[in-house]
Amino acid sequence: MPAIEIIRSLTEMTNWSARHRRKGNSISFVPTMGFLHEGHLSLMKEGKRQADKLVISIFVNPTQFGPGEDFDSYPSDLDRDFKLAEDIGADVVFTPTKADFYPQGFDTFINQEKLPNHLCGLSRAGHFQGVMTIVAKLFNVVNPDIAVFGEKDFQQLAIIRRMVKDLNFNIRIIGHPTVRETDGLARSSRNSKLTSDQRITALSLFASLEKAQNTLKSEETSAAVLIGNAADFISSHPGTEIDYIKICDPDTLDDVTIIDRPVVMAMAVKVGTTRLIDNMILNPDK
Ligand code: AMP
Repeated sequence: MPAIEIIRSLTEMTNWSARHRRKGNSISFVPTMGFLHEGHLSLMKEGKRQADKLVISIFVNPTQFGPGEDFDSYPSDLDRDFKLAEDIGADVVFTPTKADFYPQGFDTFINQEKLPNHLCGLSRAGHFQGVMTIVAKLFNVVNPDIAVFGEKDFQQLAIIRRMVKDLNFNIRIIGHPTVRETDGLARSSRNSKLTSDQRITALSLFASLEKAQNTLKSEETSAAVLIGNAADFISSHPGTEIDYIKICDPDTLDDVTIIDRPVVMAMAVKVGTTRLIDNMILNPDK
């Protein structure tokens, strides 16, 4: 197995991609903020299946964190990440510096009118502007054919798909299903911040999504009822604070009142000080 390349320089990254494209290699790309877990690794395996070369990036992007959020305490273990990426067979880990990506005078941001005005966008002002900007910058530097994103960040995936269409990026976006622990907890770098009691409490997110699907199966099609049930269930666990629980159209993210087609149920809940998100497609015909 060839050793993985760690690239920090933007120019070096762009040159690497150009070199491989000239050789006729296709390139897949998985952007991450590091502290890799099985969810990231699953995206990487998908990336490897889809192209000749796999690039992953690790960059904790300051512009997508708001004041009081966990930018300064975001978990990190680069040596462990390099090893995991190498074991998966990634070709490059791109870890640009903040100073290179946002030099003095940086002043251009990407925005979208509709999709960010839902779900996480309502409580994390500026978050998706930061996400779109960094993803577009990474796309320009890495120049991949394919990029893989997790459905765990459902709104992010929808926004990236829209951006790629609207701004004519010639990149195929692949959405990858959420990878969970065996007990259902969605894998997340932030799970490492949970105490063992909080981790048990955190299971209430997935459990409430599963309950909603089961209730829907028993012909209860009112979104308000399913949301109310989920809110009651999660709130019955001490130390939880619900940011939102919504049932919405998977494409527009507009609220749905009666579930007569597949919809997405999405939620953000603070467990202690850790904000967790999860979602599930609810299907009345399932
Ligand atoms: P992050 O490092 O949290 O920014 O995530 C990087 C990528 O991994 C994003 O596309 C996420 O949606 C994806 N991801 C994070 N957690 C999971 C998971 N549990 N299952 C699948 N994809 C995930």
